[in-house]
Amino acid sequence: FGALSKSEEGSAEVDLGLYHGVWVFAEQREGKIMPVVIELLGEGRKLADALNTELAAVLCGSQIGGLAEELFAGGADKVYLADAPELENYTTDAYSKVIEEAVNTYKPEIVLYGATHIGRDLGPVLAVKANTGLTADCTKLEIGEDRSLMMTRPAFGGNLMATIRCPKHRPQMSTVRPGVMKKAESIPGRKGEIIDLAPVFAEGDIRTKVLEVVKAVGETVSLTDADIIVAGGKGTGGPEGFKLLQKLADKLGGTLAGSRAAVDEGWIEKARQVGQTGTTVKPKLYIACGISGAIQHLAGMQDSGQIVAINTNEAAPIFEVADYGIVGNLFQVIPAILEALEA
Ligand code: FAD
Repeated sequence: FGALSKSEEGSAEVDLGLYHGVWVFAEQREGKIMPVVIELLGEGRKLADALNTELAAVLCGSQIGGLAEELFAGGADKVYLADAPELENYTTDAYSKVIEEAVNTYKPEIVLYGATHIGRDLGPVLAVKANTGLTADCTKLEIGEDRSLMMTRPAFGGNLMATIRCPKHRPQMSTVRPGVMKKAESIPGRKGEIIDLAPVFAEGDIRTKVLEVVKAVGETVSLTDADIIVAGGKGTGGPEGFKLLQKLADKLGGTLAGSRAAVDEGWIEKARQVGQTGTTVKPKLYIACGISGAIQHLAGMQDSGQIVAINTNEAAPIFEVADYGIVGNLFQVIPAILEALEA
């Protein structure tokens, strides 16, 4: 998870002083900036200030120049813009070619990607091309004493947090879990500089062609943006239990989610799984129903604003992170809550 792309032996010494600036890969889909980009800009600003350097975004796509304003508003000082028909849909070849050239020309000190499907594909490819390392799925980033990026991520099934450095290579690269970092505050009208990367593709540069984009049903679920989440675990006992949870979610204007145990049982779809191997969420209110609170589940929800736990077992670990704990059977507690809300 924190490997160098090539052995350090034999690789030429890198002049670290040549590298400046923090870059954020501004992933967009269908002309919309992904929410994780705004989180990366918030985090990137912090890192750039600590390094006394600039914050930039790299924006690729077709006819997406207008999105630069949103990136400036989110704190980017510069936007490196690659606008070409070949970049309309993400392909590893096209995007990595453009960004590799930009990295070689402008030499950023740090490059951050969202740990989305695209970021997880693009980041490692660029790390190999730049002969540097990449730490995947980070949940914390800090600048160390020697200006190096301290990249922290869960390891060994979430049982320890590993902090990884990339001391001898640049840029330092990291994919960052969506929903973990604080979003940049938007300052509408904030100005910045656009640098046109003017991408040119030769025949054979792009080996894949996107024929059609078919959206997975699950992709419409946005747990990371939800203010209220009602999550169910093994204790819901099956799809009937989830119907009860859905009633509560509907009443509160919330979104339904589940533990991995519930997903594995097929009671709720994978796109709604919260936790280490699911989504990290930070809603204002998280109601955990029949969820024990395994460390891998807590990793995905413990930073929620208010946590309410309903569990029959008073010793369940979920109560350690809960602001309000209800020891009881969810099939009695939830109807009582619904009744109270009705009243
Ligand atoms: P259980 O642990 O079985 O807990 C069920 C709870 O329901 C119990 O506390 C019980 O007291 C309570 N209960 C039972 N009946 C009722 C009732 N009628 N009313 C109220 N309470 C009731 N898990 C995740 O959730 N997300 C992840 O992303 C994730 N990733 C993982 C990654 C790895 C590498 C590994 C090894 C594990 C991962 N897990 C993940 C699994 C995790 O370790 C737990 O197994 C899982 O979270 C347990 O789910 P649960 O709490 O629903 O079930």
